[in-house]
Amino acid sequence: MIIDIHGHYTTAPASLERWRQRQVANLANPAQGPSVAELVISDDEIRDSIEGNQLKLMRARGADLTIFSPRASFMAHHIGDFNTSATWAAICNELCYRVSQLFPDHFIGAAMLPQSPGVDPASCIAELERCVKEYGFVGVNLNPDPSGGHWRSPPLSDRHWYPLYEKLVEYDLPAMIHVSTSCNCAFHTTGAHYLNADTTAFMQCLTSDLFHDFPTLKFVIPHGGGAVPYHWGRFRGLAQELKKPPLREHLLGNIFFDTCVYHQPGIDLLTQVIPVENVLFASEMIGAVRGIDPETGHYYDDTKRYIEAADLTAEQRYLIYEGNARRVYPRLDAALNAKTVQGACYDTVS
Ligand SMILES: [Zn+2]
Repeated sequence: MIIDIHGHYTTAPASLERWRQRQVANLANPAQGPSVAELVISDDEIRDSIEGNQLKLMRARGADLTIFSPRASFMAHHIGDFNTSATWAAICNELCYRVSQLFPDHFIGAAMLPQSPGVDPASCIAELERCVKEYGFVGVNLNPDPSGGHWRSPPLSDRHWYPLYEKLVEYDLPAMIHVSTSCNCAFHTTGAHYLNADTTAFMQCLTSDLFHDFPTLKFVIPHGGGAVPYHWGRFRGLAQELKKPPLREHLLGNIFFDTCVYHQPGIDLLTQVIPVENVLFASEMIGAVRGIDPETGHYYDDTKRYIEAADLTAEQRYLIYEGNARRVYPRLDAALNAKTVQGACYDTVS
């Protein structure tokens, strides 16, 4: 089985974006803004938005299941206040849930959290619980910088975040560390801010003892870990200077990387430097880089091709495609096992 742990609903019907524009236009007077009930999206619209896009590409490329979360750049936690984000997150999460209900064999949800700059992350817990209990979601996206490129929150190792971590641990949910749109013009959203954040999150963990306090907390650092694998020697050396344990011991029981690196040498380096037990298959499709690489004739984000061509054993490929995802996302594993049992029962009956 091939599990893509990083997909966003980037192809949601246009009425979603129109609703958001009206919400944003009425931040000063939310009562004059759109109500949740005004956004009506039919099942057929959702089917159309998925079948010809993500699902078509998954089938063409051979991926079976995608962990699907709301469009990352649209989270835009810096806009409005907590209520703005709470309403927006609830709408976006429900849509991903509906995708998972319409295509239960191909999509399972991960939640966007209703973060807001300067607001206690504990305020996100109600939405997190709803997504787990009502929607069967298996992970969350945690934005380390809700201010959108200005980095006004304490580092991820700060106690500021601990109430949220307690819930993640309680529900056995990994958090993908994922920023949103940059509103700092010095940082391009997907080309700089995303990769900066991946690198920054890793270093925040490295300099701290966060996983001493939360030994079972799991972070997935996307986009191949930003600059981390490429500069692994620097990070090892810094940990040594700081008298931290070796990185494998210090961080790799808790931090995992995805394969959203859009060329072969990048994947080769990732899988040579980082233990394969810490690498999870992902494409972030349909996402930031949608074109075809003229050097290969294939889509940049067709990341399975790079895994296939990398110097890996069959067992290592199994771990990257499926085994690691089942271990890092226990709720996904449980959902898949439940399906297998259910399927076996049907088989027995028939
Ligand atoms: Zn993403």
